[in-house]
Amino acid sequence: MIKRQEIYLKLKYLKNRTVLLISAIFLLITFITFFVYQSGGTRFSYTYLVYIPIILAAYFYNIKGGLLAALIGGLFLGPLMPLNTETMVMQSFENWFFRMLLFMIIGSFSGALFSFLESQIEEINKIAYYYQETGLANLIKMKSDLEAKIENDGDFYLIIININNFLDIYKLIGFTNFSNYINKFVEHIRDFKNIKDSIYQLNENKYGLTIDKNKVDNFEFFLKEFVIYLEQAIDFKHVSIFNEITLGISTSPEQSQIADELINQSFLALEKAAEKRINYWIYEEQEKDLEYSDSNIEILAQVKNSITEDNFELYYQPKINLRTNEIEAFEALIRWHHPEKGFLTPDRFISIVEQSSLIESLTNWVIKEAAADLNIYKEKIKASQINLAINISARNLQQPEFTDNLIKVLRQEGVDPCQLRLEITETELMLDIKENIKKLKRLKDHGIQIYLDDFGKGYSSLKYLKELPVDFIKIDGYFIRSISIEESAENIIYSIINMAHALDLKVVAEGVENQIQLDFLNDLGCDFAQGYYFARPGSKEKIIHWIKNNNYYILK
Ligand code: C2E
Ligand code: CA
Ligand code: CA
Repeated sequence: MIKRQEIYLKLKYLKNRTVLLISAIFLLITFITFFVYQSGGTRFSYTYLVYIPIILAAYFYNIKGGLLAALIGGLFLGPLMPLNTETMVMQSFENWFFRMLLFMIIGSFSGALFSFLESQIEEINKIAYYYQETGLANLIKMKSDLEAKIENDGDFYLIIININNFLDIYKLIGFTNFSNYINKFVEHIRDFKNIKDSIYQLNENKYGLTIDKNKVDNFEFFLKEFVIYLEQAIDFKHVSIFNEITLGISTSPEQSQIADELINQSFLALEKAAEKRINYWIYEEQEKDLEYSDSNIEILAQVKNSITEDNFELYYQPKINLRTNEIEAFEALIRWHHPEKGFLTPDRFISIVEQSSLIESLTNWVIKEAAADLNIYKEKIKASQINLAINISARNLQQPEFTDNLIKVLRQEGVDPCQLRLEITETELMLDIKENIKKLKRLKDHGIQIYLDDFGKGYSSLKYLKELPVDFIKIDGYFIRSISIEESAENIIYSIINMAHALDLKVVAEGVENQIQLDFLNDLGCDFAQGYYFARPGSKEKIIHWIKNNNYYILK
């Protein structure tokens, strides 16, 4: 079974299938000639069997093929073949010449007919399956290609690309130029990595394409890069045009094996991305159940109560400057004194809270608490300068009043914004990168410094770093844990540090637990480190005690 398949595949992908077909037609002619010879010669009606290979050749190679086969057939049945093989009577010149002429007329006529039919079918297909203005494959074609892909057990993503600002582009370049621009845009898409497959035009601003799963190692990373790539300016008639892009994605066979359903899901995902004001969304069946499950709703209700009842507490963990042994800042890490479940770390609740607007209230509480704590630190340890870092999520940045509110709280508490740092994860920042860059710039204008948290985990390309208005990069703890275990992780740390330094950014290693890791980081010139090796996260009281009792790490 396997062998047969292999042979079939080899035949299918034989580079020169033309040679194969011509040989087959030639063989067929030889066989028929032999048959005619055996049955008595050209006097008999079997001669007409030669029309079969001639018409076949005309079908495959049109006029050229028909003529060539007619010539070969004519020669075989002409000068080389007697009229009667029993009596060995040869045929006259006029006789075989006339037959060959007839073959050639039929060969060229059927060749012409086939090529005419082909062009007609092509024309009809074009009208049915292609967008008239741009010549791109349309929704009907996409559906039928999807069906074929599913039939062949395809494992793929269906991506719908929406150009959000297409009306602006339309106005800018005018109606007559629009389809030329779209062709250029589609070419731009095709230049991205693995995209060799069809790109379908669904309407003026929506385009579809499929990506085979085996072509991408990390799909989220692929999407991030893809969005950034699509939003690059396209030069059109000396005007730089920017596309604002949203992607909606569905997955086959996981989410559906019906073409219509997949298309629907991608559209729903597109809607969801737009609603969340992020660049892409991957459709998930269980999404709704997860978001609105009873236990999650319960947790949200309890978080709400606990904010008013002050059941949260901030723990702190120092970041150490590896050159000077100074404490650069303390990171605030939230803890929950749950009325029933006791002491909870954020992995038990923060991702649930981040999915709801409650994260706004929780971050508000963190800001106020951190600012108040900063004043307590100053008073208790008499340090001139202590810096605190708080973690925020993408949803916080989306709040229009976030920056103003933050500055207001700091002012009320008498805290200098230069003493506050914000940590935001690389993955969250990338979701709506353009908008987020603007917001971060505003924060930085007030003197607030930014850490890019969990760097490396989201696999964003290092090249985007230079566009991000951040001050520090925190290498994700996963890489630090892999030091002396995994060589590739060490190489990644090496390149992150070099790249960051080339861009004038400072590097923090998180989750440093032992001397080996610390030595490795020191050798590579890492600037700051944080982790159990120096201090575990602890309550304010514990941290104050730690500062007073350690004579190695100093306050600025
Ligand atoms: P993160 O910002 O990456 O914080 C680092 C986590 O690693 C913390 O977990 C910290 O306790 C832990 N850690 C520190 N040093 C070491 C070490 O040497 N080894 C190991 N194995 N772990 C270490 P934690 O406190 O459970 O926080 C988990 C995550 O929750 C944080 O990850 C952060 O993303 C989030 N989070 C914490 N507090 C807040 C908050 O106030 N607001 C928001 N939005 N998120 C928060
Ligand atoms: Ca953090
Ligand atoms: Ca982190």
